[in-house]
Amino acid sequence: MLSNDLLERAMKFHGHLGPFLILGLKAALLGTHYLGKDYFEVKATVETNPHPPRSCFIDGIQFASGCTTGKGNLEVRTSSNVSVEFVRDQRRIRLTVKDAILNILDQMTSEKVEMMNREILEKTDDELFLIRENLHRHSTEKKHADRNEAQQKHSKDFMKGFRVFELGLNSFMSVKC
Ligand SMILES: [Zn+2]
Repeated sequence: MLSNDLLERAMKFHGHLGPFLILGLKAALLGTHYLGKDYFEVKATVETNPHPPRSCFIDGIQFASGCTTGKGNLEVRTSSNVSVEFVRDQRRIRLTVKDAILNILDQMTSEKVEMMNREILEKTDDELFLIRENLHRHSTEKKHADRNEAQQKHSKDFMKGFRVFELGLNSFMSVKC
């Protein structure tokens, strides 16, 4: 949830309030909601046009996600899309601003900025972004690997126990003999 406090602080950081800054903040909040916020463990790759207003998206991402160009965990690529992919360990989530939203924002003039800000603020995440999370495939693979490892360990322990039992049996037998 994008609070007024976060919005105000981001505006001070960035210098003005625009719809692409708001989109960046919203995308970052979604990303941190899925992956948890961590200033070091999360890596972001942003795709956007490198010029304002679209590039303002980058500052929204930096401000709310904690991924920054200075730390090297935010990479910017030039693209006709506006999207961000957050990665943490094997988990990732990709958010792409929908074409319909970009088409609206392409009509932006200085008189329309406030109206467009309000529109972006009011829209739901699903209305704004194509959301793709890739949490399952990798985590299933990992679970599978963990299970194999656990099974191997279990059978090793079992064999160890068996050998101990065997040794005990032999010594018992030798005593008896
Ligand atoms: Zn801006």
